[in-house]
Amino acid sequence: MIEKPEVIIIGAGASGLMCAIEAGKRRRRVLIIDHAQKPGQKILVSGGRCCNFTNYHVDTGNYISRNPDFCKSALSRYGPEDFLALVKKHRISYSEREHGQLFCTGNSRNILNMLLAECKQAGVSFRLDSKIEKIERLGERLFKVYSNRGDYACRSLVVATGGLSLPAIGASPLGYEIAGQFQIRVWPRSPGLVPFTLPPRDRGRLSTLSGIAVPAVISRKRHSIGENILFTHRGLSGPAALQMSLYWRPGEALTINFLPEIDLAQALKKHRQQHPQRKVKSMLAEYLPQRLVTVMVRSDLAESPLQAISDKKIREISAELQQWTVTPGGTEGFQTAEVTLGGVDCDTISSKTMEARQVAGLFFTGEVLDVSGWLGGYNLQWAWSSGWCAGQYV
Ligand SMILES: Cc1cc2nc3c(=O)[nH]c(=O)nc-3n(C[C@H](O)[C@H](O)[C@H](O)COP(=O)(O)OP(=O)(O)OC[C@H]3O[C@@H](n4cnc5c(N)ncnc54)[C@H](O)[C@@H]3O)c2cc1C
Repeated sequence: MIEKPEVIIIGAGASGLMCAIEAGKRRRRVLIIDHAQKPGQKILVSGGRCCNFTNYHVDTGNYISRNPDFCKSALSRYGPEDFLALVKKHRISYSEREHGQLFCTGNSRNILNMLLAECKQAGVSFRLDSKIEKIERLGERLFKVYSNRGDYACRSLVVATGGLSLPAIGASPLGYEIAGQFQIRVWPRSPGLVPFTLPPRDRGRLSTLSGIAVPAVISRKRHSIGENILFTHRGLSGPAALQMSLYWRPGEALTINFLPEIDLAQALKKHRQQHPQRKVKSMLAEYLPQRLVTVMVRSDLAESPLQAISDKKIREISAELQQWTVTPGGTEGFQTAEVTLGGVDCDTISSKTMEARQVAGLFFTGEVLDVSGWLGGYNLQWAWSSGWCAGQYV
C-alpha cells in the first residue's frame, strides 16, 4: 500500500528538520526521507563540532547569490534571535566568539538533539537509509516518490538535500537533478569556504611554513579580507583564505599583506636609524614568525645589517611582505569545502514560501539554492530561515 503523508521532505539536514518542525506544528503529516543512516550529520561536524549555529550580525550582504535580495525576506521573518530563542528554550549553553559568531559551549549534538526533540513533539516521521529512485508529478500539487523502502504520495514535496560538500557524509546532487527534472534552472556549482591549493613550485618553497597562522589581509580585485591565514602542507587556509574562496575565480592571483597594521617601509627606515648594526631578519622577527621571514624575504636582504639596506631594497622587502602575490592552483574541492556556491536559481523560487514558481507544491530550502553565506554561522542561519519559511506553507 502506498503511504500518503501530506508533506515529504527529502533531506534530514538543517533546513529539512526546521521545515518539518514548522509544518508539524501546523498539524501537517510530515515524512522526512534521507539516504543517510542518521539525520543531521553535517550539523554534527559543523563549527569544529561546536556548531556555529548563527551570528548576531546577519544581513543580506553576508550572502552570495545571483539574486542578492532573495534571502532578505526569509532572514527577516526568521532571524538569529528566533533561533537563539529556541536554543535558550532547550537550555543549550552557547558563547559568542569574535564577529558575533554563536557556538555551542558543549558540542553540536546539543543542537541536533534539540531539533530532533522538536520534530518528535511535532509528530514528524522519519525514513532513513532510503534511496530515492524516482519522483513523478501526478497532477497539480500531487507528487509520487519511489524509494527502495516503499513508495509515497504527497501534496507538498520539499527538496532539502543540501550542497555537494562532504560526499562522505551524505551530500549528493539529487536536489539539482530534481530541479532539472522540473525544468528549473540550476547555476553551475563550485566549492566555497575551502582551502586553496598551490602549484607544486610554490608548495615546495612554502612547505616549511605548514602550520603557521598569521593575521593578514588577502585581496583580489575589489575584495579584501582581514583575518588569519594558515599555511597548510597543500596551500592556504584559515578564515581569510576560506572566506576569499567564495569570491576567487580559477586563474586569479591573490595579494597578501602579512603586516596590514604597519607601514613597513617607515618602520625599516626608523630601525635603520636607531639600530644600524641589526640584521634585517631580526628586526622583522619582531613582527612576524622567523620561518615566514626566512621564506618570504630574499636571504641576502634578510642577512644584511639594516645600515646596508638602501631605500630601494626597503621597498623590495616591503613588497615581499605586504604585497606577496600568489596564484592558487585550485582549491581542495568538495571533499573539504563547507559550502556549495551556485545551485537552484532563486529567480525561479518564491522568496516568501520557497515554492517553485512554475511547479505548485515543490519547495527548495537551504544550501541546494543559489545562496551561500560567509564563514561564521551564516549558512546554518540560511538553512533555519529558509526551512522555517517553507514550513509555514507546505
Ligand atoms: C565541515 C563543515 C562545517 C560547517 N560548519 C558550519 C558552521 O559552523 N556554521 C554554519 O553556519 N555552517 C556550517 N557549515 C555549512 C552548513 O552545515 C550547511 O550550509 C547546512 O548544513 C546546509 O543545510 P541543508 O539543510 O541545506 O543541507 P544539509 O544539512 O547538508 O542536509 C542535507 C541532507 O540531505 C540528505 N541528502 C542528500 N542527498 C540525498 C539523497 N540523494 N537522498 C536522500 N537524502 C539526501 C543528506 O544526507 C543530508 O541529511 C559547515 C559545513 C561543513 C561541511
